Amino acid sequence: MKQSRQDDIIQDRMRPGVITRDGLLGSDRRSLRDILEADEAEVRRLGLSHAVIAARLRALRDAGAQGLGEPVTVFDHFEVRVDSVRGLLPCPFPHEGLCRKEFVDVRNLRSGERVTYTEMNIHMIEAHGFYEGTGSPFRQEPAALARVLEIPCPAAD
Ligand SMILES: [Zn+2]
Repeated sequence: MKQSRQDDIIQDRMRPGVITRDGLLGSDRRSLRDILEADEAEVRRLGLSHAVIAARLRALRDAGAQGLGEPVTVFDHFEVRVDSVRGLLPCPFPHEGLCRKEFVDVRNLRSGERVTYTEMNIHMIEAHGFYEGTGSPFRQEPAALARVLEIPCPAAD
């Protein structure tokens, strides 16, 4: 699909200093529409959906929130630390509602690999299929999320 006028407006809000200091696009020079379509294809290739990925991120976040800022081991072998800071962020996509400023750090104790994501990541993946641009501090690679967080692939059953 071709980048729309609306996509341009959303992409402008993702630039550094608009919503977050570093912005959401990193060094990515692609259009927002191209970023969304590439990640959509990747998620499909993995046999996953944005909803399944977001649900896993949310479940780990909710379990880890019991630690009140300290690391806790959940789901047998995941160490999770949920760090909340004051403040709320608007989503760059057009709708009402704000995201908490919250960072979720997950370490897979079996593999030693870790990922860090935000409440905003969970929301943007779930609602918009957006994983941020390449080089963005909180860019999430769908394949890395699937591997590190051991997201069960429904297609593999
Ligand atoms: Zn949104």
